Amino acid sequence: MRITLVNGDITEQRVDAVVNAANSSLMGGGGVDGAIHRRGGPEILEACRKLRAGHYGKGLATGQAVATTAGRLPAKWVIHTIGPVYSMSVDRSELLASCYRESLRVADSLEARSVAFPAISTGIYGWPMDDAARIALDTVRQADTSVEDVRFVLFDSAAYAVFEARL
Ligand code: ADP
Repeated sequence: MRITLVNGDITEQRVDAVVNAANSSLMGGGGVDGAIHRRGGPEILEACRKLRAGHYGKGLATGQAVATTAGRLPAKWVIHTIGPVYSMSVDRSELLASCYRESLRVADSLEARSVAFPAISTGIYGWPMDDAARIALDTVRQADTSVEDVRFVLFDSAAYAVFEARL
């Protein structure tokens, strides 16, 4: 597996699957979730609604992942995963690691070979970037997956620098 860091916008990545840091409702939100739905168009929300009407009536649990179409994005799929909200009193690292593992598992089931990840939970959910980068990189490196190209797409140069130092 090759791991690449990009300082940029995940909605512009030409990859098989783009991972979305969604919320459990799957009905859209701010941050990277908002950007993916805006850029990908209504087809993605429509697919999420169908998931909610089917197997995911209560939404998606933290640490889990599910795929939809990528709509108009230059990718084939969006893999929606639910990051944990950061807590100083409870260690939720395993749930954050699960987001990366489960997303790669879903990617494998789609036979996706290239996957772009944002820095899950580091925005609205408040995870410190350095710790999030450690968990993201360790988990992806150790994953048992057929994905060949993992791209971490960091939205600003500070986040990029943190990932670069960790890598
Ligand atoms: P969470 O709720 O999991 O914290 P956010 O979307 O608030 O999710 O933030 C996750 C990370 O995604 C943050 O580091 C944020 O800066 C970054 N981000 C926001 N928009 C984009 C984008 N278009 N492409 C890549 N990363 C983005």
